Amino acid sequence: MIRVVLATHNAHKVTELRTILGPALEGIELVAYDGPEPVEDGETFEENALIKARAASAHTGLPALADDSGICVDALGGAPGIHSARYAGTRDDADNVALLLKNLGAEPNRAAQFVCAAALVIGDREFVERGTWPGSVLFETAGPNGFGYDPVFKPAGLSVSSAELRPEEKNAISHRQRAFSALIGATREILLDS
Ligand code: IMP
Repeated sequence: MIRVVLATHNAHKVTELRTILGPALEGIELVAYDGPEPVEDGETFEENALIKARAASAHTGLPALADDSGICVDALGGAPGIHSARYAGTRDDADNVALLLKNLGAEPNRAAQFVCAAALVIGDREFVERGTWPGSVLFETAGPNGFGYDPVFKPAGLSVSSAELRPEEKNAISHRQRAFSALIGATREILLDS
């Protein structure tokens, strides 16, 4: 069994990733990470995902998976983007959502996308893949599931928010699913050989 550390302290993400990666994880044991969190000072989702994976790999000596994600809103020039988790300065989901709705106001262009960069670091080898989930920002919150901006994000082609999807529905189509499926698809053999 190959042990791989999952470099996130976000319990929601750990749950989502275990579900997303489930079948692809045969022969791979995911280990929770409780070491120090690095400063995320990259300028892209990809850089920040690699910073987190490098830190967890260096601390544990194991291959490390990490992600960096956020919501990019067209009418706000791509904000909050890589600053999504700390948008309102409090790290509180409800505060972030309230600030996003305030900053968008009555703006009719509600186009947005969730973005996730998934990274794997094995020794000195580094891999990163991006997944996107297009949609739009609602005018008010809807739905009890998910986390972060899910209550105000309506995925393209659906008539409900991502917080109204059941977890397994969201996990089948989300930006995180797309990024990690691509990453594991590209690296599974390398991981199993490591
Ligand atoms: P990270 O932990 O630095 O990647 O920050 C991700 C932040 O982006 C979260 O705190 C959420 O605010 C937002 N975010 C990322 N993915 C999702 C999602 O699937 N649903 C809702 N919000 C998300």
